[in-house]
Amino acid sequence: MGNESTSAVVVTGGASGIGRASAVALAARGRPVALWDLDPDRAAGAADEITRVHGVPAVGLGIDVTDSSRFAEALERSRSVVGTVGGLVHAAGTVVAQPVGELDEAGWDFVMAVNLRAFPLLVQALLPDLMSSSGAAVVGISSIEGWIGNAAIPAYCASKAGLLGAVRSMAERFGPDGIRVNAVCPGYVETPMLAPALGVPDVRGRFEASSPLGRIGQPSEIGEPVAFLLSGAASFITGQALIVDGGVLAVD
Ligand code: NAD
Repeated sequence: MGNESTSAVVVTGGASGIGRASAVALAARGRPVALWDLDPDRAAGAADEITRVHGVPAVGLGIDVTDSSRFAEALERSRSVVGTVGGLVHAAGTVVAQPVGELDEAGWDFVMAVNLRAFPLLVQALLPDLMSSSGAAVVGISSIEGWIGNAAIPAYCASKAGLLGAVRSMAERFGPDGIRVNAVCPGYVETPMLAPALGVPDVRGRFEASSPLGRIGQPSEIGEPVAFLLSGAASFITGQALIVDGGVLAVD
């Protein structure tokens, strides 16, 4: 097994759901984490808990990933607590329900800016650190909706499919530098983002029935594969999209 990395990981959206679970899984493997999230208080609270439970340095910062002008300063502040950054998880995400026919430009651009545009810009900002870290790797959180359509949320689906293109392109660009780039595509996972949908009658049952496992996933079931992809155990995996959906896409 090559290049086991012990360097710090920046986790966007790290205050909640899948981002937070990824940070916990990484911390359990001894990786310091910097949580960059819109919500500074929840990010700081999550970081404190991670340090208390797992004994690794952690910091939580209030950062809007649509504002790349903040990334350099955020990296500097993070580095002062967690050291050189050898990994990234881009889990910050948003959804706007606007079917084509009811689209406006602001809604489309907002979803693209958070889910897609931020990802390569984050990698670009972290590049000097990633380049100098042995076993560096990044993971973007896509979705099963990067593979299938959803009439209600076309911008979300396009952003998640687009992320896979960015992953493959950056895998080619940075492979020679030893930096691996992958995506994880979750299915239905019990997080605050899914809560409004789960509140609609019958939706929970429909989501559960769509999986051969007969249930919705828990955030830790995504965090663990994310931590694996950032570890030396995944040293020959790059440019890939790992579907972690309880088998939803595998069956009709
Ligand atoms: P969540 O709402 O629990 O967490 C999302 C986090 O991102 C929040 O803490 C939020 O503050 C943060 N965030 C949102 N916009 C941001 C911005 N502009 N800058 C910085 N932080 C921002 O949701 P989640 O379900 O954990 O979602 C995490 C990722 O997983 C998203 O990319 C989402 O699209 C993806 N995903 C979720 C599911 C699911 O079923 N929950 C399925 C597939 C993919």
